[in-house]
Amino acid sequence: MSSPDSHLSGSAAERREALKGVFEQAQGCVRCAELAGTRKTVVFGAGNADADLMFVGEAPGASEDEQGLPFVGAAGKLLEKLLGEIGMARADVFIANVLKCRPPGNRDPQPAEIENCREYLYRQVELIQPRVICTLGNFSTKLLREDPTGITRLHGQPEVLVVGRRAVRIYPIFHPAAALYTPRMLETLREDFKRLPELLALPAPEQPQLLEVPELEESDLEVPDLEEPGVLPPAAGGSGVSRDPAEVDQLGLF
Ligand code: URA
Repeated sequence: MSSPDSHLSGSAAERREALKGVFEQAQGCVRCAELAGTRKTVVFGAGNADADLMFVGEAPGASEDEQGLPFVGAAGKLLEKLLGEIGMARADVFIANVLKCRPPGNRDPQPAEIENCREYLYRQVELIQPRVICTLGNFSTKLLREDPTGITRLHGQPEVLVVGRRAVRIYPIFHPAAALYTPRMLETLREDFKRLPELLALPAPEQPQLLEVPELEESDLEVPDLEEPGVLPPAAGGSGVSRDPAEVDQLGLF
């Protein structure tokens, strides 16, 4: 029997399955009433579920909300171009955001929304197990560093931190949207990007000691009564939740 923490040491396939579970859970999220009421899709994130490199942006914009995928607009094209320049492709990495839902009118994420959504990001980090997380801009940098210092001071400076329950090398860089129309910022972003292969080649950060998992009791091994309401396993092939094509696309990407 697998323990509740088995995903922390599970195979890539097991972790990917667990990630799909978090995806399903996020699809129905109503923690932020305003965002749940105005979004078209929940933009969970997409890419390689076993990626060494993860990017965390701010929040979906209009195109992302429409398509259900992160970074599909102009900023996403720039991100792909910069990845190409270091010999990587979008499919090699996992891309997520601080918020999974678009703030109306592209306003800034609110502190309560960031708090409501934080656990999804932590679960993504736990399950994907990246070696390096590039925080794109201020919101993700401040959230993952748990510190208000801004991106202008921190960009290009890697540090090992615990995110959720996972030690990871955090690497803050400018948000590509900010660099789109500012050539000097784009040059800085490109320079910072060039260090990524070197950071990915470093030994993986040592993981913190896991909390002791309690010994299994005899009663934990009893087979549940499947006739009892609430203990029926999900139907084969999924949770029974119907999905629109954009959501299926997101799942197909990891
Ligand atoms: N900007 C972000 O921060 N995230 C997206 O997904 C798109 C643009």
